Amino acid sequence: MGDRFSKEADGLPSAAAIERLVAAAAEVREAAYTPYSHFAVGAALLTPGGAIYRGCNVENASYGLSLCAERNAIFHAVAEGVRQFSAVAVVTENAVTPCGACRQVLAEFNLEMIVIVADLAGGRRVYRLSELLPDAFGPAHLGN
Ligand SMILES: [Zn+2]
Repeated sequence: MGDRFSKEADGLPSAAAIERLVAAAAEVREAAYTPYSHFAVGAALLTPGGAIYRGCNVENASYGLSLCAERNAIFHAVAEGVRQFSAVAVVTENAVTPCGACRQVLAEFNLEMIVIVADLAGGRRVYRLSELLPDAFGPAHLGN
């Protein structure tokens, strides 16, 4: 999909917006609290208007209470009154995709959002969220 990012007409983020988003995710990754896994993750969400909301993973001595960067970013944005997202960038040392729980939470707001996973060396992969969560359960199943 790489070259499609140069077009705004079809609703995809511009290449410049994607660069800003990945940079924001890389920056917030530095704030990750990961004394147990040492696996720092930064996530940044892009709104249709170009705003960015960020989150990092936050671990806890009671491991099950740890929160992923993607959900941290979503919850931060929602708490600020924002519910529309066109893309999310996730930066880790090895460009991993969001976990299943985060895919589900992201899908609540836009199953077709663009997901950019990036590593620290500039490597990237791009997906639609619907590719990562096929046949997703969502609001429509509850009549919403
Ligand atoms: Zn997750």
